[in-house]
Amino acid sequence: MNIKKWSYNPKGELQWRGHSVVDVLRDQAYSKPIYFYDLAYVQSRAKFFKEQAPHGAEIFYAMKANSHPEVLRTLDAASIGMDVVSLGEIELAVKAGVLPSKIIFSGVGKTKHEITEAIKLQVRQINVESLPELERIANIAQKLKSKVSVVLRVNPDVNVTTHPYIATGFRDNKFGIDQQQLEQAVQILKSNSFVEFKGFSQHIGSQIFNVSDFAEAFSKMMILEKQFRQQGLASEVLDVGGGLGIFYDQDNEEQEQELCIQYMKSLMAVVESSHLKTEVQNRSVRIQFEPGRWLVGHAGFLLSQVQYVKSTAYKNFLILDTGMHHLMRPCLYEAYHEILPVVLRSAKETYDVVGPICESSDFLARDRQMTQTHPEDFVVIADCGAYGYSMASNYNAHQLPEERLWPR
Ligand SMILES: *Cc1c(COP(=O)(O)O)cnc(C)c1O
Repeated sequence: MNIKKWSYNPKGELQWRGHSVVDVLRDQAYSKPIYFYDLAYVQSRAKFFKEQAPHGAEIFYAMKANSHPEVLRTLDAASIGMDVVSLGEIELAVKAGVLPSKIIFSGVGKTKHEITEAIKLQVRQINVESLPELERIANIAQKLKSKVSVVLRVNPDVNVTTHPYIATGFRDNKFGIDQQQLEQAVQILKSNSFVEFKGFSQHIGSQIFNVSDFAEAFSKMMILEKQFRQQGLASEVLDVGGGLGIFYDQDNEEQEQELCIQYMKSLMAVVESSHLKTEVQNRSVRIQFEPGRWLVGHAGFLLSQVQYVKSTAYKNFLILDTGMHHLMRPCLYEAYHEILPVVLRSAKETYDVVGPICESSDFLARDRQMTQTHPEDFVVIADCGAYGYSMASNYNAHQLPEERLWPR
């Protein structure tokens, strides 16, 4: 599939993946901002990622990126499991038809109730983020007299290049078990027969483009695996997490595919030079991946209507019916999203694109040069398939946006 993501037809109407936004708006009434998702694109990304992953690897989609039931079903149908971070996500996945045996439960703050329910449901594995959590899981499993598979998420202490709020693999971050505390984990694992050690996991952050960061963390995991193996705790799975980046400022599918290929290569190079080369080959040790953004980021956009154009001596504000309450990424991470008018005009203008929320952090773009846009025009905020609707709120008692599927 090689359709240009965005283009304008001869009438100057915006098209996404071959369909005119104007046509879709004509067929379906607009009452509030809408997230649109293209399932065919999700499918094609999933297929590509799977094909590049090493033979025998398992993929678990990080569903906090986008938990729309049809997105989950599409990925489930592509034999991709789910990586969840709350009981709420477990319930959404199960409701969408995902088997608990295909669900990995991650997250730093799992409550007793969440752990109890996850064990009762027999999720595939729990990725453990701290020693107290491991103790809690051991106690609950013992009480329920039910075995539970655990994977230790290690904090590999790597300092990656990304926004500080989405870097998660440095020793100062709250995520993962500190490498120096793993001996204590061995004690807990050996003293409780209901927790079954399955291996290690890592997740060093999000929007990462430097593939050697992943490899550095994975090499550290290999060293720990060897130490555990020598103590009788051999891994069956090595979970390398998610975090592979996508380009928000350009339409370059080929370059992202190339990045994915390099990512797989750099991880496999670590395997090749490790003590587990044969085990991975004969699949007695399986590699797991947890991609989120890479699978769904480009698969969605947010449609919004311009309410006012407010011009002062200092600024032109494009005031929309959507904002930080529907799409937090710009205000939270200073993230860039392309903003495209649905009908092209010839004049250009520079705008601060803002929402209705009573905060100055409520912006979607600042000093953005774009086509001149008028009140009641529609605009599209591009590449919101990941961390868009899933982070939306009712702040200021506004309604949540709608979610619709893009016509095939
Ligand atoms: C968020 C998250 C992911 C996915 O990150 P992406 O950057 O969206 O690929 C994977 N694993 C864990 C544990 C996460 O918290």
